[in-house]
Amino acid sequence: MSVFKNIIGGQQADGQSVYRNINPSNTNDTVGEYAQGSKADALAAIGAAKAAFAGWSQSGVQQRHEALKKIGDEIIARKDELGRLLSREEGKTLPEGVGEVVRAGQIFQFFAGEALRLAGEKLPSVRAGLDVEITREPLGVVGLITPWNFPIAIPAWKIAPALCYGNTVVFKPAEFVPGSAWALSDIISRAGLPDGVFNLVMGRGSTVGAAFIESKDVAAISFTGSVNTGRSIAAQCIAAQPMKKIQLEMGGKNPLVVLNDADLKTAVECAVNGAFFSTGQRCTASSRLIVTKGIYKEFVAALTERLKGLVVDDALKDGTHIGPVVDQSQLDQDTDYIEVGRKEGAKLAFGGELLRRSNPGFYLSPALFTECSNEMRISREEIFGPVASVIPADNYEDALRLANDTEFGLSAGICTTSLKYSSHFKRHAEAGMVMVNVPTAGVDYHVPFGGRKASSYGPREQGAYAKEFHTTVKTAYTLAQ
Ligand code: ADP
Repeated sequence: MSVFKNIIGGQQADGQSVYRNINPSNTNDTVGEYAQGSKADALAAIGAAKAAFAGWSQSGVQQRHEALKKIGDEIIARKDELGRLLSREEGKTLPEGVGEVVRAGQIFQFFAGEALRLAGEKLPSVRAGLDVEITREPLGVVGLITPWNFPIAIPAWKIAPALCYGNTVVFKPAEFVPGSAWALSDIISRAGLPDGVFNLVMGRGSTVGAAFIESKDVAAISFTGSVNTGRSIAAQCIAAQPMKKIQLEMGGKNPLVVLNDADLKTAVECAVNGAFFSTGQRCTASSRLIVTKGIYKEFVAALTERLKGLVVDDALKDGTHIGPVVDQSQLDQDTDYIEVGRKEGAKLAFGGELLRRSNPGFYLSPALFTECSNEMRISREEIFGPVASVIPADNYEDALRLANDTEFGLSAGICTTSLKYSSHFKRHAEAGMVMVNVPTAGVDYHVPFGGRKASSYGPREQGAYAKEFHTTVKTAYTLAQ
């Protein structure tokens, strides 16, 4: 088996070791072998990106537009093949994998358009005879560190704006999912960018990621991953000399409120999709289902019935609704939390069992806990698996209070037919994204994505708002002639 290599300064580069990428639906299936970079590889990539910055930061917008469009178009043209690779290495179902690939392509196409819309402002000065111009400039080398749960979309939504606004990139994908990252990087490396503008270094967070964070030549870090890693990256970037700009997307414990007046079918679909699709491995997953008393019994009965009909199986198989958990350590975390929930006195109303399928894989049936309190660990800590808590609420006010009683603030949803409650919830939910009668997960690519409280830090990602992170503002004064 040949090893997929890193891409540094336009060249393929060996790493210091090799990572075997395993299919979580079938652990006998090796997806491929991927180079694992060393600290020296990370430094070489940073050096290449630094050298390329002078040219790329001054590149014309037509050139950026063409490169980004070419990348987006190739991703979409290869959606079936790349979707299959993604599902094979990460374990989300094939339709979810193909959908994610299309999303990645759309993101590049969106930023191809944004490259043509770079704009500044020209104002009269408050002082006579002066003009003032406000423009945006790229930051320099940006370090992009991504998690395993969206192996192509998250890299896309960091890389596309970075390149669009004239930065050069060092990219480190998550260890578990180098396949999609490599395929994306290969497409990028054939799009006509000058050597060194984009560099891929696969490898460990503590080696490659840490090298990005320690380097004086990296101006900014955009990270998506766990809260603990995010906090440690933030502390290092603020303490660095010079300080680094940071953009952090971390955990969630997203509430989906279901009110008495909700349409039951809509509420059940929002809960199933939000809590369990993509195996619950989304930072926007609805892991807390907060249900008012008048609909509680009916909702739990209908949701349990719906869960019985879901097929948990090989991600690539036709008819699978929920693929496997990504790997053994995540599966252990999920089953540990299921044990914690039981011990805390929550009722396991459905699932939570390890399943055997024709191939060995990390199969877990969706776990629904009922009669939970918002104080239980399963209602407070991010599990990142197909596990959800149903929490009873007295009324709307109580439900809103419970929804906001969390350290996180990424996405918050409500199912109701009341304009009064939906309007109030949109204003008072302490979250970066609010969903009314739609799942907490599932967003558009042309609008901002991000949260507040412990979920996120720094400017928003995606859409035109991405420029807040990927550029720095310059104000120029000119004495008029
Ligand atoms: P998870 O694996 O649960 O998504 P992590 O925060 O562990 O969350 O990982 C997210 C990304 O951060 C991965 O690419 C990982 O390799 C990287 N990473 C982990 N630890 C560090 C670190 N100390 N410095 C930089 N990057 C890291």
